Amino acid sequence: MSRNLVAENWRLERSRYLLVGNKCTECEKYYFPNVQICTDCNISKLDEYVFSGKGKLIEWTKIYEVAKGFELFAPLYYGIIELEEGVRVAAQITEVTDDTKLIPGIKTQMVFRKLFEDGSQGVLTYGFKAEPQI
Ligand SMILES: [Zn+2]
Repeated sequence: MSRNLVAENWRLERSRYLLVGNKCTECEKYYFPNVQICTDCNISKLDEYVFSGKGKLIEWTKIYEVAKGFELFAPLYYGIIELEEGVRVAAQITEVTDDTKLIPGIKTQMVFRKLFEDGSQGVLTYGFKAEPQI
């Protein structure tokens, strides 16, 4: 594992493990991951916000040729999810048994799962994936 990966994991720890973003105190716009300044109001007064993880599928794709470390998940489903707060996130879709049921608009729930492993070191990285609520 590279030093950069360790640093990145620590920096993103709260957003990866708790689905934490923030919300503008002025216009109530949500952000994930969190930002320092609201892009609509141009102010820096934002409160931490923990997202429910409930959302809907916007679009998805199926990836057959996966990067090293993702072989366990191949073929891999990846999609755009719109959380109920209006924020869109890109996430791996998990627990897919029949991809004909992956219809844009179906409900999803963000769930905490293993994302990948570093083969040489055996380091596991966890984070959120989207689980269809079919
Ligand atoms: Zn704002």
